[in-house]
Amino acid sequence: RNTAEKFEFQAEVSRLMDIIINSLYSNKDIFLRELISNASDALDKIRFLSLTDKEVLGEGDNAKLDIQIKLDKEKKILSIRDRGIGMTKEDLIKNLGTIAKSGTSAFVEKMQTSGDLNLIGQFGVGFYSVYLVADYVEVISKHNEDKQYVWESKADGAFAISEDTWNEPLGRGTEIRLHLREEAGEYLEESKLKDLVKKYSEFINFPIYLWASKEVDVEVPADEDESSDEAESSSSDDGESEKSEDEDAEDKPKTKTIKETTYEWELLNDVKAIWLRNPKEVTEEEYTKFYHSLAKDFGDEKPLAWSHFTAEGDVEFKAVLFVPPKAPHDLYESYYNANKANLRLYVRRVFISDEFDELLPKYLNFLMGLVDSDTLPLNVSREMLQQHSSLKTIKKKLIRKALDMIRKIADEDPDEANDKDKKDVENSSDDEKKGQYAKFWNEFGKSIKLGIIEDSVNRNRLAKLLRFETTKSDGKLTSLDQYISRMKSGQKDIFYITGPNKEQLEKSPFLERLKKKGYEVIYFTDPVDEYLMQYLMDYGDQKFQNVSKEGLKMGKDSKAKELKESFKDLTKWWKSALASENVDDVKNQQPFG
Ligand code: ADP
Ligand code: MG
Repeated sequence: RNTAEKFEFQAEVSRLMDIIINSLYSNKDIFLRELISNASDALDKIRFLSLTDKEVLGEGDNAKLDIQIKLDKEKKILSIRDRGIGMTKEDLIKNLGTIAKSGTSAFVEKMQTSGDLNLIGQFGVGFYSVYLVADYVEVISKHNEDKQYVWESKADGAFAISEDTWNEPLGRGTEIRLHLREEAGEYLEESKLKDLVKKYSEFINFPIYLWASKEVDVEVPADEDESSDEAESSSSDDGESEKSEDEDAEDKPKTKTIKETTYEWELLNDVKAIWLRNPKEVTEEEYTKFYHSLAKDFGDEKPLAWSHFTAEGDVEFKAVLFVPPKAPHDLYESYYNANKANLRLYVRRVFISDEFDELLPKYLNFLMGLVDSDTLPLNVSREMLQQHSSLKTIKKKLIRKALDMIRKIADEDPDEANDKDKKDVENSSDDEKKGQYAKFWNEFGKSIKLGIIEDSVNRNRLAKLLRFETTKSDGKLTSLDQYISRMKSGQKDIFYITGPNKEQLEKSPFLERLKKKGYEVIYFTDPVDEYLMQYLMDYGDQKFQNVSKEGLKMGKDSKAKELKESFKDLTKWWKSALASENVDDVKNQQPFG
């Protein structure tokens, strides 16, 4: 086409495409999931715009928010079409080739080491997975504010864009045409596509249709010569036989039934949102799959925990929260500059945004999930919504539920039950829960520490979730509650020491003195710990003491001794008075420190 404008892919994008094309990765199926996910995002966007401006949807078929898949077996083309927001010419140039996303080079790097292409969606470059199965791809797109354009590329370092004057007008939206590679013929099988949509797109909240063939019975004039066909026709026709028999008898306009292939749109998915269902009726497997679709993580790891609940009262909403099995690659990298909330906000089933920082504090950004509220207004701008007073209530409840969910990982973990307070762990025989909290801690411990620093309201709740090693923990993780339960009698403070690593701290002369006297000391070896301890002054009745600071008191200071002296007689008296009652000992408890 003479009018086509040529563009070169940005260098990183080009490298990524090379990797994909030459990949020996066997699970090529993933391209379909990525395309459907993009179509769904585009539909979410136009639906969101339509809340404040109905006009954007247009009329008739244009207003139908669905996804359509079509096959052309002869030309070996698979096409996926959506009636989403579409792309302007500029969008096509930027989004599909010239602007590398932050995840592009990270993904390229990852591919050179571990090579799991399955993660492509998480890095924001899912579109390019089309080149796993196609050697030539056309993207036809129509945005309300521009003409219809075609983007095309053979993944040879360049792409072209032309104004579309030859295809049928789309009205609005995008059609991706994959010219399948020779060896990708299986994606022209309807059954294959049906299976894939079932497998990967169960939680897409728009209908997905396949232009599917169907064998139907059609009545055609009987061919006098073929008497065997006639017999077939009369036997398969019992539905209407009574009426027609008489007529047949009269003037014999004989017809017969033959099989003919016709096409129609077949709905492939069930769009009932999982979060609207009763949690009791959702299986563990369904939650796991739902998590995978939210996280764009299609490994086989289960989330560490989830919480599905309905909040009632002034602000009503439903929510599902997940603790992922692994921290995303850039969780702490982007912590301070970008907000990477992973919570999707819906208002009355309509997707609003996945970039609302108002729903969760930064330190809980590692959680995945969604909130669907009936209380928030639908027909206001995002900015207005962001200031809505209900968001504060939602946030407060989400934090509470999130921390409960995390605490439960510990409560149900038999490995955590190594002190007397936790003897009654419900599922202590449950192997699946074993070691889960340590896993959580390794992945997200830093987030809990950042929470202690940032969230003064929930500081104590978060402190309960802290884990660390100590001089007595034997290389295992321990909690503040466990530490306190082991404190020597008379010890008032929680002792800790900070440094780059345990080995170095073990040699510290400051520790010597305390160890000799049998005190337990916490090792804080994370760079964030020092900062953390400026915020975490105390825990319950206990204060924190840095053992390498001067003027360390090991408890039983002179005042305490004085007190003990003055109550000595009373204590003695109680002891003898209670001797008959099976009392082992009477101690002078100090109500003040
Ligand atoms: P991601 O979906 O994570 O942003 P992709 O590589 O899958 O990354 O897609 C790149 C971008 O291309 C999208 O962000 C979107 O802007 C655009 N895009 C892709 N597919 C469509 C589509 N069907 N409709 C509109 N825009 C699309
Ligand atoms: Mg995508």
